[in-house]
Amino acid sequence: MVDSISKRLILVSNRLPFQLVEKDGEIALKQSDGGLVTALKGYFEQEAGDVDQSRNAEQFGEKIWVGSADFPEKRWNKYLQKPAPQSFHIDALFINPKSYNKYYNGFCNATLWPLFHYFPSYVVYDETFFEEYEKVNQLFANHIIDLVRPGDTIWIHDYQLFLVPQMIRERIPDATIGFFLHIPFPSFEVFRLLHRPWKEKIIRGILGADLVGFHTHEYVQHFLKAVRMVTGYDHHYRVIEHDNRLTKAELYPLGVDYDKFNGSGKREDVTAVKETIVKNFPDKKIIFSVDRLDYTKGITHRLSGYEQFLENYPEWRENVVFILVVVPSRQIISKYNERLKLIEEQVGSLNGKFSTLSWQPVIYRYSSLDFTELCALYEAANVGLITPLRDGMNLVAKEYVASSPDHGVLILSELAGAAIEMGEAILVNPLDASETAEAINQALTMPVLEQKRRLSVMRKRLQEYDVLAWVSDFLGQLSDIKSQQQQEHSKYLSPDMRKNLVHAYQKARHRSLLLDYDGTLVPFARNPRE
Ligand code: UDP
Repeated sequence: MVDSISKRLILVSNRLPFQLVEKDGEIALKQSDGGLVTALKGYFEQEAGDVDQSRNAEQFGEKIWVGSADFPEKRWNKYLQKPAPQSFHIDALFINPKSYNKYYNGFCNATLWPLFHYFPSYVVYDETFFEEYEKVNQLFANHIIDLVRPGDTIWIHDYQLFLVPQMIRERIPDATIGFFLHIPFPSFEVFRLLHRPWKEKIIRGILGADLVGFHTHEYVQHFLKAVRMVTGYDHHYRVIEHDNRLTKAELYPLGVDYDKFNGSGKREDVTAVKETIVKNFPDKKIIFSVDRLDYTKGITHRLSGYEQFLENYPEWRENVVFILVVVPSRQIISKYNERLKLIEEQVGSLNGKFSTLSWQPVIYRYSSLDFTELCALYEAANVGLITPLRDGMNLVAKEYVASSPDHGVLILSELAGAAIEMGEAILVNPLDASETAEAINQALTMPVLEQKRRLSVMRKRLQEYDVLAWVSDFLGQLSDIKSQQQQEHSKYLSPDMRKNLVHAYQKARHRSLLLDYDGTLVPFARNPRE
């Protein structure tokens, strides 16, 4: 038995949750943007004493975050000389930049990302991208194999590392491995568009895990179907029995750090920025959106919806302003740069068409926001207009609701994973400009009592299943499935047991063979004649 103090959690993601920036000879940590980081960093940073133990299914004496570094190794070595300010260990992986480029900008973001978000025409099919994807996945796996100790729990995150679970499993058959996918798992009609060997390796790679988590029920179903179509393995209540092991697929909708966002309104820095925003737009309703630059986020369609709104409801002109924040992302990929140009052209043309001497309908900003600015914007806004064409979850929608004090309306795309838990938002088809225009008018004219009612239902849900509940739920079930496997284990021979048996058989002078059929070689049948 391994006690909780010596139990370690090894969390693995493509990128580390921060960058190391050097200014005036001083090295400092800068948190990276992105949903995964924001969600997990909160959990990782909790000091042991701050954790509400009753909500924590699994206790770990040590937490280690493994990820590739976005900074030079020399700077990292310099940084390591100082005591670490964070409460978890960072294990940085340095990957050859050329290899990383083909893996990350290539297979991850020019092949998997568009396909899994239903943009098949954007998918690049390049064998060398996949080769590099395999190599980098092997690098991660080797690193973890060297690091892991008996009793450790390994939690691997996202589509960049699909092959890692199986690569570890091959070398450490009894390792405890969880895998979570943060993007949609597409329907088989879309998944099948990958080359056959890629599909097989991806499915086999994921099946190396004991527990596989997704944001929604639909993604779980798509995954189970892909497993059946690619490998022939069926499931029983989402448990797949294969290669003498069990893998469970389950849904865990990612939550937000509710208390942090909900409490942000009490912070002086947030209030000060919020007041400045409100003062800048006196007597105007504020609509906002914040997204990474990505064609999946539906920014150009959203602008068309807003334009249609200004056309259809001219009474709102000069009485409303749309603050559109686009956070730079993946600019090295041509599709992203093209998208940026389209957005900027559209903002220009929309402002040119409707602006007056004293009013501009879109306030556009192309940069990231810090936590204070983000919360201030959430609190100042009357309407959150979050309309991705596809999104695994969408945390901005959840953060907006968690932060909104007592007014605010969320307009949310029905194609975001978050829509399933946020039925009280105004749900729209993001491709339909007229529907978006109508939703904006409905949001701006919604009585405050109705706004409060909707917000409070969603807020309660977000509070009950926040990011800590999500982590605890996943890790608790990973531990359960491991126990279930150990019980089932008596049915199977481990490689060592098999070797000993063969050896004993070969050495024996007399041999008895006891054979059993049903319940051993095949499952029990309802009718014995079968
Ligand atoms: N975010 C941030 N800085 C910004 C804008 C957004 O840290 O300037 C955070 C935001 O709080 C949210 C995450 O980035 O937690 C975005 O997550 P989401 O699921 O909405 O989209 P993703 O970028 O993961 O596709």
